[in-house]
Amino acid sequence: MKGRKVILQGEELQVVVTFKRIKKLRLTIRPPLAEVRVSAPLRMSLKAVEAFISTHMDWIERHRADILSRAPAPLLPYASGERLFIWGEEVELLVTETKKRPTVVLKGHTLLLNVPVGASREDMDKVLDRWLKREVAQVLPDLISKWEKPMRVRVERFSVRKMTTRWGSCTPKSRSIRFNSELARHAPECLEYVVVHELAHLLERSHNARFKAILDRFMPDWREIQAVLNLPSSKRRID
Ligand SMILES: [Zn+2]
Repeated sequence: MKGRKVILQGEELQVVVTFKRIKKLRLTIRPPLAEVRVSAPLRMSLKAVEAFISTHMDWIERHRADILSRAPAPLLPYASGERLFIWGEEVELLVTETKKRPTVVLKGHTLLLNVPVGASREDMDKVLDRWLKREVAQVLPDLISKWEKPMRVRVERFSVRKMTTRWGSCTPKSRSIRFNSELARHAPECLEYVVVHELAHLLERSHNARFKAILDRFMPDWREIQAVLNLPSSKRRID
């Protein structure tokens, strides 16, 4: 009997009942989907559990409605006319449908998002993420070689990917640097600062006075740019 599970299937409600070595019946409603779980004492009959549920139905429904109203609404697919930022400039989206491969084209202040019929927000984000990554990867070789010489460092390899907590990172040992693809949403000087910052790590690992002196020398306004990248609303950091 211990741990026996029963699923009570009502018209609109499904309750998972687990019989346990406990003294009192316990009812929980779990966010975000408002699933109802009941833990019942081993000696209690299923009929008694059902009776308990039906007498508390109003309470259960109220709590479920409350939890469900708090659940985040699914994001709608992007629509034409929406605005977003690319390289620090506001652009307007133009969403069109295609039967072929999805594409993204930036034309002046319009970003053409050509996606298959019925594409979800997630599908569109994937297409957009890929494009942002390409945007950053395209300008990086020139930017890196621009700074390698004056800073007297050499980058062995770099990569671009979407990262959730950092704008960039550097492994001095292998002289490899990773850049966040989301930098393509910010003004070009932000990416350039991340390049200088990560290259400076090839000279100095920690963010000490020497490190800051290197930044001061090569990019005197680095503090303002860093402040923009590290705004409280951003989860990502450069430090
Ligand atoms: Zn750093």
